[in-house]
Amino acid sequence: MIPGKIMVAGAGGFIGGHLVADLLRQGKRDIRAVDVKPSGEWYQKFPGVESLQLDLQEKASCEQAVDGVEVIYNLAADMGGMGFIEMNKGLCMLTVLINTHLLMAARKTGVQRFFYASSACVYNADKQRDPNVTALKEADAYPAMPEDGYGWEKLFSERMCRHFREDFGLQTRVARYHNVYGPHGTYDGGREKAPAAVCRKVIQAKLSGKHEIEIWGDGKQTRSFMYIDDCLKGTQMLTHSDVIEPLNIGSSELVSINQLVDIVEEIAGVKLKRNYNLSAPKGVNGRNSDNTLTRQKLGWEPCTRLRDGMEKTYRWIHDEIIRKA
Ligand code: NAD
Repeated sequence: MIPGKIMVAGAGGFIGGHLVADLLRQGKRDIRAVDVKPSGEWYQKFPGVESLQLDLQEKASCEQAVDGVEVIYNLAADMGGMGFIEMNKGLCMLTVLINTHLLMAARKTGVQRFFYASSACVYNADKQRDPNVTALKEADAYPAMPEDGYGWEKLFSERMCRHFREDFGLQTRVARYHNVYGPHGTYDGGREKAPAAVCRKVIQAKLSGKHEIEIWGDGKQTRSFMYIDDCLKGTQMLTHSDVIEPLNIGSSELVSINQLVDIVEEIAGVKLKRNYNLSAPKGVNGRNSDNTLTRQKLGWEPCTRLRDGMEKTYRWIHDEIIRKA
């Protein structure tokens, strides 16, 4: 492990907040947490952590954030679930400024490790048309036909990381996350992703007594979902590894959205009438993570069962909804 100050960009968000918590659990004390959101809106905040509100699209803010830092985790992005990324392609693409300015600042100050959070949205859409998927392996990102907007920004930023490593010797590491879920994340407001959205809808149906649920698409689209603990482990293993190519960090437990709803209904102890909204954004028909390379390179792959992770996620969202009621 590399000693020295660690900077987490996007620390007010879901994964960034959990990462800071995990670093503290490991006894790390020299942590700088940065996010554009006012501190009251961060999902998790910790005493003793230097927490800065900075807009990392700005070059000067990146220089301030990176000053004196040895390891950078870039988890900052203007993003959300399918409902957000399909309607906000321009905003998603502007996130390119964050990674670009962070890389430039990191190069100047001699940062030792630079982690970039990419996404399964970089994969070629042609490989994701069938719900009976062949899991995506790293080579499937090319020839390039990623998710419009969000996926293009991720693919471009991956290549920036690669070229900063090749040309300037900055040690960049890139993970392609596949749908991450867990407590302390977005579950309403339009940026939430399927696992949190399904939990919220089931909880609301149960509390209101109106036993119905709206599902985006026909429910047959397939995905894999990675629990946050696995995401944190993979992120840190990859950051400190010698793996220089982008690597899948995702679960390979494939489910349809209907099966995801089955799981949440079972946790909640309800059965709901399902109304399918075929005009809502639903993303690609099928997507799974091929973890062959991850296993080979890291000797590990995400292993939390979806049922177990969803139970914890459901409980947290349930308590939040009750607390705010
Ligand atoms: P999140 O939205 O919860 O967190 C991102 C954080 O970045 C937010 O708190 C946001 O305020 C912050 N941010 C946005 N613009 C900023 C700016 N200009 N300056 C500083 N901070 C800024 O998202 P997350 O789920 O924690 O995702 C973290 C990273 O992982 C993102 O890069 C995301 O694209 C990537 N990713 C996430 C998933 C997933 O399922 N959650 C999947 C694939 C990739």
